[in-house]
Amino acid sequence: MIVIDGAQGEGGGQVFRTSLTLSMQSGQPVRIKNIRAGRSKPGLLRQHLACLRAASEICSADVQGAELGSDSVTFRPGKVEAGDYHFSIGSAGSTSLVFQTVFLPLMFVEKESHIRLEGGTHNGHAPSFDFIAASFLPVLETMGFRAHAKLDRYGFYPAGDGAWSVKVGAMCGVQALSLTERGEIVSQRAVATSSRIPEHITERELAQVQKKFNWSGEQLEQNIVESAGPGNIVSLRIKSEQVTEVVDMVGEKQLSAERVADRAIKAVKRYLESGVPVGEYLADQLLLPMVLGGGGQFRTVSPSLHLKTNVEIIRQFMGVDIRVEQEDEHAWRVVI
Ligand code: ATP
Repeated sequence: MIVIDGAQGEGGGQVFRTSLTLSMQSGQPVRIKNIRAGRSKPGLLRQHLACLRAASEICSADVQGAELGSDSVTFRPGKVEAGDYHFSIGSAGSTSLVFQTVFLPLMFVEKESHIRLEGGTHNGHAPSFDFIAASFLPVLETMGFRAHAKLDRYGFYPAGDGAWSVKVGAMCGVQALSLTERGEIVSQRAVATSSRIPEHITERELAQVQKKFNWSGEQLEQNIVESAGPGNIVSLRIKSEQVTEVVDMVGEKQLSAERVADRAIKAVKRYLESGVPVGEYLADQLLLPMVLGGGGQFRTVSPSLHLKTNVEIIRQFMGVDIRVEQEDEHAWRVVI
């Protein structure tokens, strides 16, 4: 049995999720100890427990330690089966992170699966539904993975109750990723979404984007949606020939609309200046599809602790060494 120390590197939920995915895919049992020891509330939260339950459901795993607050889990995977799955977090926790735990093992099963996810769809500190649908999945498609996602209901923290569905599987051979250049920029857009808050919030966010980037009215979209509770997110989308970067910033009560927009604007400026195709978050999320698929390479910004941690867990599990080399002041190359 492989033992993974959840305190290493980032010391967050990603160590746990990556370990589950690799265990399912390789068939090797794993014990993860010191789960999320680097966080102020360590152990399994509802969102992580939802990932564990989803993982154990798709492969009929034998699991010990599946409780809220648990700091150690033993996971013995069985055979991954395609199916019609429904995973509900029971809180506003991120549904995207549940998706990320289970979709790769399901991709490698011959039959197609249908997954319905309920909970948070547009959370801070996690990929939003739009990031998954517009940035992550299109890159995976170039690697031979097939997934089609559809949003049914927005779910914001703290009310949650969002929902989306995704069809995965029926892959037709994996290919190495080669994402070393962005290509020309095709479009740049801002979408400010809100539910149950005054409309001037999204108007001010878009006005701030227009002021700082000088974008035209056609590049700005106000998206007022129905959701169980209040919420707001600004999403800036830079679509290039080879990749789409989605920069999301979730609105917070203590932050003015202008400051929320400013944070997203700053992140987009950094991305544009770097000249590389892969942004900070996409980078750590591409490692697992690459290592389980056909390998490959991409160029990215300065590696985050999430990326470094994922590299290390993959090495411990699969014995695969991932090269992360600095090319110049702004660019790093990741090779598997
Ligand atoms: P914890 O509660 O332990 O901090 P967690 O389970 O939410 O953790 P992390 O270990 O922090 O998980 O991992 C968060 C994941 O979400 C990472 O893969 C990261 O790339 C991704 N992520 C965070 N913010 C964004 C964002 N703005 N856009 C896209 N992806 C994001």
